[in-house]
Amino acid sequence: MPIIATCACGRSWSGNNQAHCRMCHEPSSTVKTYNAHRPGPRKRDGAPTCGKPADITRTKRDGTVVPVLRVVQYADGPTWVSYTEDNRFEEPES
Ligand SMILES: [Zn+2]
Ligand SMILES: [Zn+2]
Repeated sequence: MPIIATCACGRSWSGNNQAHCRMCHEPSSTVKTYNAHRPGPRKRDGAPTCGKPADITRTKRDGTVVPVLRVVQYADGPTWVSYTEDNRFEEPES
């Protein structure tokens, strides 16, 4: 039986399937996707803040700006996944 996790926002999901943000309640497919939705601005205390997943982009080597995350319909509901799940997300250094 999968572990069912729930959140105060009303979302429930299978424990292994998602990394749900307890702050902005955006459901992410993986921890990597979860990390991607929190690019900053990083505060002096080092805590990243949530961004709007749809607004998060990255710049490819050729200068093209592309979205990082897209939403797909999972059994648990709409869920953010990385634009190409097999593409390694390049964490911006700051
Ligand atoms: Zn969040
Ligand atoms: Zn939630």
